[in-house]
Amino acid sequence: MIIKPKFRGFVCATAHPEGCAYLVKKQIQYVKAEQQLEGPKRVLVIGASTGYGLASRIVAAFGCGASTIGVSLEKNALHNTTATAGWYNTVTFEKEAAAAGLYSRSINGDAFSNEIKEKTIELIKQDLKKIDLVVYSIAAPRRTDPATGEMSSSVIKPIGKPFTSKTINLNSHDLYDVTLEPASEEEIRQTVKVMGGEDWQLWLETLENAGVLAEGVKTVSYSYIGPELTYPIYTGGTIGKAKEHLVATAKLLNDQLESVGGQAFVSVNKALVTQASAAIPVVPLYLMLLTKVMESKNINEDCIEQIYRLFADRLYAAGGRFDETTVIRIDDRELREDVQAEVLQLWEQVCSGNQDVSGAVERFRREFLNLFGFEYENIDYEQESEAEQGHPHIL
Ligand code: NAD
Repeated sequence: MIIKPKFRGFVCATAHPEGCAYLVKKQIQYVKAEQQLEGPKRVLVIGASTGYGLASRIVAAFGCGASTIGVSLEKNALHNTTATAGWYNTVTFEKEAAAAGLYSRSINGDAFSNEIKEKTIELIKQDLKKIDLVVYSIAAPRRTDPATGEMSSSVIKPIGKPFTSKTINLNSHDLYDVTLEPASEEEIRQTVKVMGGEDWQLWLETLENAGVLAEGVKTVSYSYIGPELTYPIYTGGTIGKAKEHLVATAKLLNDQLESVGGQAFVSVNKALVTQASAAIPVVPLYLMLLTKVMESKNINEDCIEQIYRLFADRLYAAGGRFDETTVIRIDDRELREDVQAEVLQLWEQVCSGNQDVSGAVERFRREFLNLFGFEYENIDYEQESEAEQGHPHIL
């Protein structure tokens, strides 16, 4: 079938297999060109098919030579639809890992469920025996608690009072004011249930009880803080509450993992264009200006550069020493004073109509479409593609 982008609101409902394969291979190439790391050898990545989780799996496999098991929730093509981008990414990862002689298996299903946790443990017992690193990189709109059956949804809202700011219409490029109403107590509670640390802790407990955590195991989960500009909608809002819970969970996990000499970390990463960030008011405009400033200083990073640096300079730094204990800051370049000062200056110019942002909007659109395998110059989108793809290592 000939595959073109199809928008449903903020979401792109189609994905391009060859384009997604290109994105994955590009990340693998990046890692292969960097220095090989003395890192983990048996890695479990929960949320492994896109964004930061996929980059973590690639750095583990191609940067450290690790065997990897990835868990994610994606869909293959059905009837007239394409598969999701994460599905094509996983197929490509499996092919590339097999070609490089690396062990790799992908479990497709709901990571929040007991069933998928048990399936993962069976696979570890059968093939890898123990795990040296658990990466938890889930971003989900909802979660069913396996103990109670209760379904919770996450929302991105400010807390306490409404928040008004400039945002951009990605189609018309128009700037306008948007006001977001504050979340209710119940919305905050549910967001913490989905995006806080409860499921991360459940995973580690289940893995520990099954005896599959290696001595000295590490586990890391990802967070974001960002600047004052986005504070009311992010760190000061519902999602920030969930991230506070994540840090509290890391501290609990540090105690819990003492029996195996393990350590838990939360890595605060840089803001990036993802499926989720395009839908948050205010954030796309911030991201556009941030990219522009960081590029002009030659310090811009994507998921793969961020995660390679996390492994190389922090988690598996030569000599095993780095300054941070539980919370690692890999967002240091984004939050540099000079970067933020220039972003703020640009923001004010844009809001007063003194700065043309059409170039930056176009770039954002392109990067957003790249996530789904579109808008790559080297891919012929008029060619037929095989939408339904599979791999025997996707279980
Ligand atoms: P993403 O949407 O690209 O990836 C989410 C992953 O979770 C996918 O692999 C998806 O398949 C998986 N997933 C979702 N629901 C699942 C379920 N029920 N069962 C199994 N897998 C499921 O997200 P991302 O932007 O890479 O975010 C990952 C983490 O990084 C999040 O904690 C996010 O808050 C954090 N983070 C993101 C940014 C950013 O700007 N994107 C910045 C800093 C930190």
